[in-house]
Amino acid sequence: MTQQTAYHCLNCNRPETIVPLVALRHDGRDAWICSQCLPILIHHPQRLTGKLRGAETLTPAPHEH
Ligand SMILES: [Zn+2]
Repeated sequence: MTQQTAYHCLNCNRPETIVPLVALRHDGRDAWICSQCLPILIHHPQRLTGKLRGAETLTPAPHEH
C-alpha cells in the first residue's frame, strides 16, 4: 500500500494505516471517515462543512440518552 492509494478520514485526515475508516457514499461520491470522527457526522454534521460536500444540509440525529 503506497501513500498515494491510502484513504484518509475526511475530517481528521488520518490515514487508514493508523485508524479504521468507515466507507461513506454521499452525493455520488465516495468518502471515508474514521471511527472516532463518525459520531461527529452523526450528531454534528455541520462541523464537517467544507470537508464533506453538503454537510451543512444534513440533519443531526437526535440523542437517545
Ligand atoms: Zn477522523
